[in-house]
Amino acid sequence: MEAAALTDSSIRVLLIEDSQAEADLVRALLSEPAGDISFDIHHVQRLAAGLDRLKQDPYDVVLLDLNLPDSSGLAGYAEVSETGPRVPVIIFSNVADQELARRAVRQGAQDYLIKREVDAKLLRHAIRYSIERKRTEEALRESEERYALAVEGANDAIWDWNLRAQSAYFSPRWRAMLALGESAVGDTIDEWFGRVHRDDLEGLREALAQHMRGDSDHFQYEHRLCTARGDFLWVLTRGLVVRGSDGAACRFAGSMTDITQRKQAEYQLLHDAMHDALTGLPNRSLCLDRLDIALRQYRRDEQHRFAVLYFDLNRFKYINDSLGHSVGDALLVAVARRLEKFLRPGDTLGRLGGDEFAILLNNVEGLGSVTHISERVHELLAREFCIDSHEVFTSASIGVAMASHKYQNAEEVLRDADLAMYKAKHDGKGGFEVFDGDMHESALAQLKLETDLRRACDRSEFVLHYQPIVSVTDGRILSFEALVRWQHPELGLIYPEHFISAAEEMGLIVPIGWWVLEEACRQAADWQRMFPVDPPLGISVNLSGKVFLKPNMARQLFELLERCRLDPATLRLEITETAIFDHLDAALDELAKLRAAGVELHIDDFGTGYSSLSYLQRFSYDTLKIDRSFVQGMHQPGEAGAIVKTLIALGRMLNMNVIAEGVETSEQLRRLRDLECPEAQGYWFSKPITHPDVHLLLGNGGLKG
Ligand code: C2E
Ligand code: MG
Ligand code: MG
Repeated sequence: MEAAALTDSSIRVLLIEDSQAEADLVRALLSEPAGDISFDIHHVQRLAAGLDRLKQDPYDVVLLDLNLPDSSGLAGYAEVSETGPRVPVIIFSNVADQELARRAVRQGAQDYLIKREVDAKLLRHAIRYSIERKRTEEALRESEERYALAVEGANDAIWDWNLRAQSAYFSPRWRAMLALGESAVGDTIDEWFGRVHRDDLEGLREALAQHMRGDSDHFQYEHRLCTARGDFLWVLTRGLVVRGSDGAACRFAGSMTDITQRKQAEYQLLHDAMHDALTGLPNRSLCLDRLDIALRQYRRDEQHRFAVLYFDLNRFKYINDSLGHSVGDALLVAVARRLEKFLRPGDTLGRLGGDEFAILLNNVEGLGSVTHISERVHELLAREFCIDSHEVFTSASIGVAMASHKYQNAEEVLRDADLAMYKAKHDGKGGFEVFDGDMHESALAQLKLETDLRRACDRSEFVLHYQPIVSVTDGRILSFEALVRWQHPELGLIYPEHFISAAEEMGLIVPIGWWVLEEACRQAADWQRMFPVDPPLGISVNLSGKVFLKPNMARQLFELLERCRLDPATLRLEITETAIFDHLDAALDELAKLRAAGVELHIDDFGTGYSSLSYLQRFSYDTLKIDRSFVQGMHQPGEAGAIVKTLIALGRMLNMNVIAEGVETSEQLRRLRDLECPEAQGYWFSKPITHPDVHLLLGNGGLKG
């Protein structure tokens, strides 16, 4: 062990000793090598000479007498250690200056030896240990320096808690972090705990206690600390316990990192994930969270009744399409701000997506108060919105779901409110509807219908009925309108109003549409051959916007007409205003190709859609079909009669043919005749009939009377 610690084969000793006799003694004592290590002694008699040597040559150890001609006492030691700070110094002392020697050791000298007591073994020993110790000290100092640098670089604060003495140390960085400036920091742990956020203190104490008990292999906790400025920092504190020989924790030390920025970023992310970016309102998932809390509260205590109002903005799509998306967006924001102001603090207004919103009302008394609130929402939304110098009007259909024990989760509540909204929208009864169980039943039935519809396409469960369109002047049949029906295997014949919109949504309207076209054109070609008239019988087919939106629609249709051997000039495509509105620009080219080939384009249900006239201007159609709601209102006092009259005049002015739909009485027919409406269609002439019945009808020479 003695030799192993040193690797050099000779130790260079600087002996500063004024007495030649003492110096000789030292030489004698060190003349024999210790193992394979020898001593190389350089003797000087004065301190100045010693310091010179020390500056020039490296020494492994200095033996220093404290009583020299040019120096006495500790000053000598101080100069030596300053000149050679890394060289261990052993004080070579007389009995008289023993106390002085001890002080030198306290200041860093490695050892002191009493000259008279020294023997060879002791001296060699002392030298070797002093070198050894000095090296260890150096290494430690370096590593401490490195550690201090690392700590500083990491920007961490250090704390050290002496559990036995109940004192604590906090590094300067700690003070800086807490903006404490030069103010004194005490030495108790309360300097820390006293600044911890109220809500975090218990958790912090528990985490510390856990580690002290030995339940965790290190301590780590994130919490808030109050700074001298009065704001809160987020810090990550880590530490380890040091245990005494009895295993009890005696010291707890560690670091503290400022993680405020990270926490803020996390908070921002969380906030963003839970809020709608446009309006800043809670989004669907946050609404569901809050609803979930309300539901659980209600289940514990029925007094906590809640209600959900679900609504969207009627005609929002048209605002978006006509005024642009930025106006649409601004309207959503304006709606959010207007409603927000009106809600009570405990309620939540959220945006579920698109133009859909929900309001969660907490602690509602009953349906009466919910109805009242719905009315208020209606009122607020009905007032004009001023956006980018546009006056925008909107309205809402509101669906309501009330707290109930039948709900297992928040999704179910939203679903029912949504169903009620759907009903409110379609019934048009003031745009407000409270969910009841039947809605659920009918929603389930609708769902089944949709599943069946997919199958119906594969199994061709559709049939066509045909309704004649006649000349108002002489009652001749001019053409037939093909109307699709679904021959459901269990439910029987289903009319288009029950499945067309679902087929639109599911995209099935495209294959259905092509099937109808092919079937109708084939039949029409058949009738034209069997019952030739001049001009030939026409065939009207209703077409969804989704069908003619497809590229190559025109080419595909011409191929179909070829197959069915039908003259394009006898085909009339019926398109609703809404379909035109939605797809106009994309469809214009295809429509133009069709018209060039002689295919007629009819606007169906004219007068029920939006901004009809501006669209008439952009593309010329052949025929207006006046919606049956106007025709049927004709004989009652009101505007319907005037509208029919105007539409007929409009058609005439634009050089368009006009067909009045839904004629049910002779009186209606007479009025239409008076107004010189050229064509009509309705139960008065014939209901839609099957194709064998068309054969019979045409075979009998058409309609009688
Ligand atoms: P539409 O094109 O306006 O068809 C006229 C509808 O009015 C038909 O209903 C017809 O039976 C009904 N109707 C005719 N005369 C009278 C009458 O005097 N009184 C009353 N109350 N109703 C009358 P249907 O067949 O139920 O069709 C409803 C709608 O479904 C059609 O309205 C059309 O928009 C759509 N539709 C029908 N077939 C197809 C199709 O093959 N493709 C597409 N895309 N839509 C279709
Ligand atoms: Mg039609
Ligand atoms: Mg119609």
